[in-house]
This record gives sequence, C-alpha cells and structure tokens, in this order.
Amino acid sequence: MQTHKQKVDRISNQLKNRKSTEHLSLYKKAVSHEVPKPNDKRYTDEKIDVSDLNEILHIDAKKKICIAEPGVTFVDLVKATIKHGLVPLTVPEFKTITIGGAVAGCSIESMSFMHGGFHDNCVEYEIITAKGEVLTCSPKKNNLLFQMVHGTFGTLGIISKLKFRLTPAKPIVKVTYEKYRTLEEYKKAIWRRFKNKDCDFMDGIIHSPTKYVLSIGKFVDKAPYTHSYDWMRVYYKSTKRRKEDYIKTPDYFFRYNKGVTNVIPKSFIGRLLFGKFISSNEVLKIFEKIRRFVPASRIPVTLDVFIPFSKATEFMDWYRREVNFFPIWCVPYRRGHDYEWISKEVLKKSSDKLYLDLAIYGLEKNRDKDYYKIIEDKLMEIGGLKTLISTNYYTEKEFWKTWNKKNYDKIKKRTDPNNIFRNLYTKMCKASRGIGK
Ligand SMILES: Cc1cc2nc3c(=O)[nH]c(=O)nc-3n(C[C@H](O)[C@H](O)[C@H](O)COP(=O)(O)OP(=O)(O)OC[C@H]3O[C@@H](n4cnc5c(N)ncnc54)[C@H](O)[C@@H]3O)c2cc1C
Repeated sequence: MQTHKQKVDRISNQLKNRKSTEHLSLYKKAVSHEVPKPNDKRYTDEKIDVSDLNEILHIDAKKKICIAEPGVTFVDLVKATIKHGLVPLTVPEFKTITIGGAVAGCSIESMSFMHGGFHDNCVEYEIITAKGEVLTCSPKKNNLLFQMVHGTFGTLGIISKLKFRLTPAKPIVKVTYEKYRTLEEYKKAIWRRFKNKDCDFMDGIIHSPTKYVLSIGKFVDKAPYTHSYDWMRVYYKSTKRRKEDYIKTPDYFFRYNKGVTNVIPKSFIGRLLFGKFISSNEVLKIFEKIRRFVPASRIPVTLDVFIPFSKATEFMDWYRREVNFFPIWCVPYRRGHDYEWISKEVLKKSSDKLYLDLAIYGLEKNRDKDYYKIIEDKLMEIGGLKTLISTNYYTEKEFWKTWNKKNYDKIKKRTDPNNIFRNLYTKMCKASRGIGK
C-alpha cells in the first residue's frame, strides 16, 4: 500500500510532466453528487486519477482533530470517528459524499445553524496546484488560498489532504418535531434556537405554506426505541406525522440518504422491492451510465438557495407566487465570517449572520418558465446565493457580481495560471451545460 506522500508525489509528478494543454477533471472513486447534467464536459475531459486518496490518516481523540484524504466518504468517516465518541461538524446527508467534494463544492446539514459548512470546521488543507506544486494552507499560512478552496469546485487545484475538527457525540439523537402554521412563527422559533444554541441539530421541512415543521435534535445516551430510514420509512414524511423520534447517531446523519424530499423509489411497492438496495448513490451511478439517453428536460429541478434570514419573508412571498412547489427542506446556516469567495457587493446587501438554505428538490421542469433562471434573478435582487451544484444560467457579468473575481483571479494566477482546471464561471455555468470548451 502506498503512503500518503507517495500518492501525492505520483499526482504531482504527473502534473509536472504533463504535455497536454487540454482541460483536466478528477477521476475519483466515489460517485459525484452534483446534480445530474447529461452534457457536462467533465465526462469527456482528460482525467487525473486521485482515486487512491481515500484514507483516514489520523484521529487525535484528545485534540478532537482528524487528518484524512479527500476521497474519504462521510459514512466511513463517521464510522471511524464515532468509535472515539466523536463526529465531524456538519455531516452532509448522503453517505458517499466525500470530504474533498464537500469542501470544493458544498455541505449543508442540521449542524449548520451552529457550525456552518464542513469547510468552516477545517483547519488546514494540502493542495496540489495545476503545475504539481504541493502547498499547505490554513488561516495562518496562505490564508486566501485556504478560504478560496471552498466552493470553487476544484478549479484552484486538487485538495490532497484535510485537517478538521471533530465534536463529542452520543450514540442516539432524539428529534422533536415542532409544528407551525405561519412563516413568521417558524422564523421566530428558528431565531430563538439560533440565539440560545440549546440543541445540537436543527433543520426542517416546509410541507406547505401552512405546515412548517422544525426538527430539533439533541444527543442522548438512551432511547425507548430507535427508527432507521433505510428501507420503507420516508424520513421527511415522518416529520409531519410524528411528535418525536429516536435515531441512532449514524442513522440520523444519513436519514435522507434515499433522497431528501425527492425520495427514490417513490412508491410503496417500489420501496418494498428495491428500497433496501437503492439510495442516492445507486441512482447517481445509474445516471452516469445512461446519461446520454436522458433528456435534460426530464431531470427535475434540484437546487439549494441561501436566503439572508432578513429576506426570508420577501423570498417566500415571491416563491409562493412564482414557483409554489412544496415540500422544501429548510436548513438554517450560520455565516462563519464574510467569506472571501463572495463579492463585496453581495456582502453589502445583507449583514445577516444567519441564512436559510432552502432545498428545492424534485420540481418538474416547466416549458414556459425556467425556474433556475427566475430563482437566480430573485437571488441577485435580494443578495442571496445558490450552490453551484445545479444548472446555472448566470451571465459572466452577473456571476462575478455574486462571486469574488478579485480574490479568485489572485489565487487562480498562482495555482492554475494555464487554466487547466477551467475558470469557475466556465466550469459551473457553461461546460457543465455542454457549452464551449
Ligand atoms: C440531489 C442532490 C442533493 C444534494 N443535497 C445536498 C444537501 O442538501 N446538502 C449538502 O451538503 N449537499 C448536497 N448535495 C451536494 C453535495 O454535497 C455537493 O455537490 C458536494 O460538493 C458533492 O461532493 P462529492 O464528494 O460527491 O464530490 P464531487 O461531486 O465529485 O465533486 C464536487 C466538485 O468538487 C470537486 N472536487 C472533488 N474532490 C476534489 C478534490 N479532492 N480536490 C479538488 N476538487 C475536488 C469536483 O471537481 C467537483 O467540481 C446534493 C447533491 C445532489 C445531487
């Protein structure tokens, strides 16, 4: 078995000796959890193999720190850390999302109201630049690179090692479902929890404009019973019916693994026959195999939007008029600091420390209305953001009004001057739709 250094040397040498000037994408072991995009250029790009970067290198239970390679999946990470009574801060909901993908892309879950995204709890990265140079970055060393690695989708280099914080955990999560009839009551309850920090987890499902569920989780040692959501039970539906639930901690983290609100298989019979074996991982794998035959128009709208808390009422009023699709997943998200990857213009529009991530998953496309585009326009108006994992229609000018071009260009010049990983705008708004090079 190769040591971490040997693996990094191999990748670095490959990049140093590379003659081709074509764009390069990563070949990793776990399936990608970006929203399926049949024409994405990454499928046909030249590849750099990082599939062996998938080991946990060290867990320091005393300091509550873990060092791991980027291809480690969250399901494996939780399995390893929980043996020490610890878990990562912010565990995305699908088992096979990787820690490298969560940092380069996004990560949102029910610890986000307190801890932001997984990247907010990272303390150091090792990065391999496009020219094969190996850099270490942290808030103390190469800080701008450290900050810009998040959300730039691998366009600034390859993350080859991550060091991150862990937090103490108990074996079970008790979840209480608070029910509200209006958005204003719901917002008040969210705000109270955000201020008081009196729970370990908070997310919710907006089932309809008059049914708001806030799911409050707390670690506990013992439970009268436990449920798992890995076969017949559908988690998001249970939030409407139940008053409370007890879920083993790893099962809690992956309670949405069959899909958040767009659960597959959908029918009772489908779940009975195939539910045990099919989850988001298998669905995404099947899609990668048959993507050529899937018309983009048949892929439902799947997107996460970040709404400044102070603009939530305005956004939801507009959403009800223009989109009106429910249920949506609601994840309160703490803005760790004024992120360097967001433009000054957007930061100026809101000083909110709390955002609501609203996940709109499974909305059928409409010929007369491009939901992606109208939502992007609304976000720009109110100073909101979206994760770039979905289909993106921003023009280049609009895009750089939201993302921070000055900071991005500064790092890009240093880590990928010949643009082999593509520019962030080109990769996520053009190449992902099959446009351009
Ligand atoms: C239906 C659906 C729903 C989702 N819902 C949520 C959600 O609610 N919460 C949430 O947190 N996330 C959600 N995700 C998104 C997912 O967490 C992100 O897309 C995440 O970035 C995927 O990580 P991955 O490990 O699958 O990486 P990939 O999809 O393989 O990669 C994501 C990006 O990161 C880059 N990348 C990957 N590894 C590295 C590396 N080592 N170095 C540099 N760049 C790298 C890739 O090039 C790519 O551009 C959802 C995704 C889907 C498809």
